[in-house]
Amino acid sequence: MTRCIVIGGGITGLFSAILASKYFDNVTLIENAPKCGGLLQSWQDESGNFFDLGTHILSETSNQQINDILFKGIYENPQDWHQFEVMKVSSSFNSARYDTGQFVPLHYLDEGDYEKALLQLLNAKGLPIEQADNLEQFAIENYGLIVTDKIFRPIMLKLQNAELKDLHPSVHYIFGLSRFIPGSVELARELKKSPCYDAKLAFATYYDGVSDVPKYYPKRGGVELWIDYLVEQATELGVEIQTSQCVTNVAFSDSKITDVILGNGEQLSCDHIIWTIPPVFALKLLDWPLANIPVRFCPTSLHHFVLDKPFIDKNFYSNVYDINSIPFRVTFYPNITNDNVVGPYNCTVEVLGEFDLTEQALNDQIILELKSLGYIEQGASVVRVSSTKLAMGFPQFSNAFVNERIRQIDALEAGVKNMTLLGKASKKEFFIYSVLQEAYEQLTYKFDDSLTSS
Ligand SMILES: Cc1cc2nc3c(=O)[nH]c(=O)nc-3n(C[C@H](O)[C@H](O)[C@H](O)COP(=O)(O)OP(=O)(O)OC[C@H]3O[C@@H](n4cnc5c(N)ncnc54)[C@H](O)[C@@H]3O)c2cc1C
Repeated sequence: MTRCIVIGGGITGLFSAILASKYFDNVTLIENAPKCGGLLQSWQDESGNFFDLGTHILSETSNQQINDILFKGIYENPQDWHQFEVMKVSSSFNSARYDTGQFVPLHYLDEGDYEKALLQLLNAKGLPIEQADNLEQFAIENYGLIVTDKIFRPIMLKLQNAELKDLHPSVHYIFGLSRFIPGSVELARELKKSPCYDAKLAFATYYDGVSDVPKYYPKRGGVELWIDYLVEQATELGVEIQTSQCVTNVAFSDSKITDVILGNGEQLSCDHIIWTIPPVFALKLLDWPLANIPVRFCPTSLHHFVLDKPFIDKNFYSNVYDINSIPFRVTFYPNITNDNVVGPYNCTVEVLGEFDLTEQALNDQIILELKSLGYIEQGASVVRVSSTKLAMGFPQFSNAFVNERIRQIDALEAGVKNMTLLGKASKKEFFIYSVLQEAYEQLTYKFDDSLTSS
């Protein structure tokens, strides 16, 4: 009998456990929270309004085998899901809202800066990310000085509380700073025809360049419904899910983790271990050396509001790049579920960073700013609000932090023969789509005999 142990019951752990059940007699998933889902959980307030705690909208991947696992429950219950092709996302920058795109619009820079910034961006020589020492160098070489100083620098200070020279170049992807809207719809269309500009520029409207990949959101409840389906699928396939549980020790011999000891004292033998939580916890269990790098987290809080009036912004969500405003991202649920006529008008505001304000004052300030940026009506009032802090939030992706993390993953990959590192232990992936693609590729490559024998 072979056993695979999966650590972490977020989307990566659940997907990996389902996939692993094809290759192992037993699969046990260990999740330390009372329920699975990780950043894909939802919360219902006393009035029955739903809010999500992290990601919201699910996109199919380009691999049908992955989709068949991930979206099985949705394919079987299509009546319970909204399906859409256009991802409607807005943004705001320099005190104004941009209605038809999620990236920073360059023409929202101050008048004197816009043309120079665009010229610098178009003429930038370009530097591959692996060759950049830090985000400052990467931004200057790829986007020019004005975009670096007027966009990258203040936005990363807002979102990461750090200077560009101290940040790892890859962090800009996470915050959507890889592309910029160059100006009008026509200009963007024209410039994006050139392969040298395409990767740095975004269309000026999300109706251009639409991918036909279906996207989903539940008609009732929050995104957690998806997790419920996956838990059900895993359980039907025989995966044993242990929640409120964690690994307290491992037996390690001949470069393999042979046993895993749980908090309740249970000892599970282990042929393979899939690790989807930060690598540092594996090194600690193995008692392997850790560099003395201070890990800073940017506190992340979620503010769930219900308003008495429909939102002005009719998009699914918006990236608030405006540097004088506290919110980072706002999700407008009725716009996703098509309930914007009757309400409830509920939204979640994600905030990164710490503010010297009481909870009430912070919530009031957020609403003031959303009014001033034109997301919600001046006369709208808050009917209900609740705030919650994410346990760890976003790490500060400093050069030292990212490089130490890569070192830890390399050490584990080289030193533990029967371990696969995915999800939160992935070397480079962050977004769900790529994290799951990587999980599929690694696990099928390792275990699918039909692939290895061909
Ligand atoms: C605020 C925020 C917004 C995001 N927005 C988007 C987005 O819009 N689009 C997108 O694609 N991605 C987004 N992401 C990234 C996305 O959430 C991740 O790609 C996804 O959650 C990865 O899933 P995961 O299973 O790897 O990690 P997680 O969702 O973090 O799950 C890890 C699981 O492991 C459990 N765990 C932790 N420690 C232990 C332990 N010691 N033992 C056992 N279990 C443990 C946790 O409780 C959790 O359930 C966002 C991330 C954040 C933080």
